[in-house]
Amino acid sequence: MMFDKGTDRLCILFYKGTDRLRILFHKGTDRFCIVSLDKINLPFCCVTKRDRLFLTDMNRKEISMNDDSQKLNRLTSRIFWLAHDDQFDRPILGYVRGDRFSLAIDAGNSAAHAARFAECLDAEKLPCPTFTVITHWHWDHTFGMHAVPGMTIASRGTDQMLRKVATWNWTDDAMNARLVNGEDIAFCDACIRLEYPDQPHTGEENHPSVMKDPLQRDRSTIRVVPPIMAFEGTLTLDLGGVHAVLIHVGGPHSSDSVIIYIPEEKALFLGDADGADHYFNNGCYDKEKLTALLHALESLDFTHTLPGHDEPETKGKTIAFLMEELARPTSGT
Ligand SMILES: [Zn+2]
Repeated sequence: MMFDKGTDRLCILFYKGTDRLRILFHKGTDRFCIVSLDKINLPFCCVTKRDRLFLTDMNRKEISMNDDSQKLNRLTSRIFWLAHDDQFDRPILGYVRGDRFSLAIDAGNSAAHAARFAECLDAEKLPCPTFTVITHWHWDHTFGMHAVPGMTIASRGTDQMLRKVATWNWTDDAMNARLVNGEDIAFCDACIRLEYPDQPHTGEENHPSVMKDPLQRDRSTIRVVPPIMAFEGTLTLDLGGVHAVLIHVGGPHSSDSVIIYIPEEKALFLGDADGADHYFNNGCYDKEKLTALLHALESLDFTHTLPGHDEPETKGKTIAFLMEELARPTSGT
């Protein structure tokens, strides 16, 4: 076994029958991914059950692989979400099931993330989203847009930013230059490199199993596209039996932020709207924007929020957290 140079990935080779499997573990988690398979005969074991891979030791004892976060979760009979994954900065992906149409919230940070979400919906026999609304332009919410079905919708500001990001190159030089000129930030740069790891050209990449593997991708596969539809202000979608109110709320995280209010279910998808601004405000809250966001949230009748990178929360706790941030002394004062 070995650590991949420059990343936190632990690489383990093991074998089933005559098939060699190279497994990537990600440091700090016990998630894994098969990245290659070829014919070498050594006696280690893995088994698949219910479409999931389990490793066993030589006594056939199962080695735990906790991937509960990869299942679809249910908030109400109409609202579902796929949990966030901090390792790759993957945000939650939301879903609202209407009687006639369905809505996804955010497209994920890659085609692989979008595909994982589609698999989860399929496993629950939920229809493909008719619409995917994008909460804001940040890479982790948008780089899967080219791979989602149906219509993508975003605010005018998100549309403008994505048109700009679509012109970015993803070479080391280009990424490093953006860190120097402040167009991008170190956290996102590091996570993009994890989500899109460059692969050495070993010849294994032509194997059919490799083509299906979600981690077998590199930054040359990044494709940034604008939404099909852009809106300003508020847009209400009648999904059949349930409505989705898309509100361009702006706020302290990003000026293009959209929140999605589901009045019949008393739920609110926040995206990252409740976060601080790491691009243009050094990870701090702008108090004026935070106050405006608080007023917007307080005016809506809901019981639960679904934030972009956390578990669902009650309205009371969300408001209390933001009030605390508002009361926190600004640094330097
Ligand atoms: Zn964000």
